[in-house]
Amino acid sequence: ELNAADARNMLLYIADKIIAKKPYLTEVDSAIGDGDHGIGMAGGMQKVKKKLSHMENEENVYALFEAAGKAMLLSMGGASGVIFGSLYLAGAKGMEAKKAIGAEELAHMEKKSLAAIQERGKAKVGDKTMVDALAPAVEAMEANSEKSLAEMLRAAEAAAKAGVENTKKYQAAFGRAKSLMERAIGYQDAGATSVWLIIQGMREFVE
Ligand code: ADP
Ligand code: MG
Ligand code: MG
Repeated sequence: ELNAADARNMLLYIADKIIAKKPYLTEVDSAIGDGDHGIGMAGGMQKVKKKLSHMENEENVYALFEAAGKAMLLSMGGASGVIFGSLYLAGAKGMEAKKAIGAEELAHMEKKSLAAIQERGKAKVGDKTMVDALAPAVEAMEANSEKSLAEMLRAAEAAAKAGVENTKKYQAAFGRAKSLMERAIGYQDAGATSVWLIIQGMREFVE
């Protein structure tokens, strides 16, 4: 179980991890995109840290995810702000307050987030986007939501990693990489890479 203090610390841990990976994410986005993904994600995560620093007494786990998602959405701007902000925000929004969540709730939250991201961005698996990592991760979460949080997240991380590998095989349906057509093949998607790192961060934190 993650209580509110754990959830806050986990979100801060992930933020630091993504900030540290800024050069790597930028390098990945530079190969077939415009090279700003690391800057966008790290900037968003700085805002997450700032926002959460004022929420030490928050007891509702969902309020923390919601605040983190909003911080990303507002600071990153554009399509990727909505997409990556939704990863935390969409699943937490409207949920009845809880002082702690377990595997089942986290799986449910990420499933809602995926649905919102796909409704908004229209990407399917195979379009070479973050959905290629998130969709299999959510599937793995649902398949393992009866297990411990750590076990569920191990499965989700492995699925996300495999999803990132799969993006190398695809042409892109969105963004700058789309215009490269088959020349995008062989390169992994930057957003999928971020999703994998975020889920890896969750797993590292709970373990
Ligand atoms: P931008 O493309 O505006 O430069 P970023 O570089 O921050 O923004 O993010 C790019 C990532 O966003 C891509 O690698 C991809 O994973 C993700 N992405 C782009 N369009 C979509 C979409 N329609 N649905 C889901 N993810 C998307
Ligand atoms: Mg970019
Ligand atoms: Mg850009």
